[in-house]
Amino acid sequence: SRAIVLRDVSKKYDRGSYAVHRVSLAVEPGEFLVLLGPSGCGKSTVLRMIAGLEDVSEGELLLDGSYANDVPPRERDIAMVFQNFALYPSMTARDNIGFPLRLRDPGADHGLQVDATARMLAIEDLLDRFPSQLSGGERQRVAMGRAVSRRPSVFLLDEPLSSLDAKLRSHLRAEIARLTRELGVTTVYVTHDQSEAMSLGDRVAVLRDGVLQQVSPPRELYARP
Ligand code: ADP
Ligand code: ADP
Repeated sequence: SRAIVLRDVSKKYDRGSYAVHRVSLAVEPGEFLVLLGPSGCGKSTVLRMIAGLEDVSEGELLLDGSYANDVPPRERDIAMVFQNFALYPSMTARDNIGFPLRLRDPGADHGLQVDATARMLAIEDLLDRFPSQLSGGERQRVAMGRAVSRRPSVFLLDEPLSSLDAKLRSHLRAEIARLTRELGVTTVYVTHDQSEAMSLGDRVAVLRDGVLQQVSPPRELYARP
């Protein structure tokens, strides 16, 4: 079944305005879908509803074929990475990456899994450092490692590169493409950057003022009759 399905999903805030209005969208297992649009168009809200960090006001969310509107975030097989990394400052990179594994299974030794994850992100040499001892790009690598260490089936990224400089952005963009392919994980990637969307997405979903405009492979995006 489809990994993620949104059926006429809306997010309505207190004063009755819609941040997201009747979005319908299906993401296939292993697909890399980019959600593209200007700031304030509702991209984060869509992502946060998929993660369970925001309630769905109207419509239906299905995860792996099951109705998921009411499933708590912890019970969704989903990991999310944010723009500002949000690493635990008092933990080394190793402990940050191992954190979700300890949460799930406190007694076990997660060393091998942490090492395998670090290898995938080429951060083996950084494992004993604290976040304050890492550069921005290194922090984002560790944050991605923490997100994928327990091998979630869905990986959500909310503007993960926007606080990095241009050179790092293009480098990490390639890393993200490689990592998600290697993991075979279903990915939804939020950005306002068109070239990022075009280079990363199997398909690109364009959002404007909370409404889905079109969903197409990058090549067909601006080639409509
Ligand atoms: P994007 O991620 O595309 O920048 P957001 O999803 O963050 O957009 O925001 C979409 C819209 O919802 C914006 O107009 C924003 O002001 C509004 N919004 C976000 N969170 C809230 C909230 N808690 N209450 C009211 N409005 C909100
Ligand atoms: P992003 O980092 O994805 O742009 P932000 O959290 O910065 O998301 O919020 C995007 C927009 O949503 C901003 O304009 C912000 O003012 C607005 N917003 C966020 N939270 C609320 C809220 N609780 N109430 C009203 N507006 C909000």
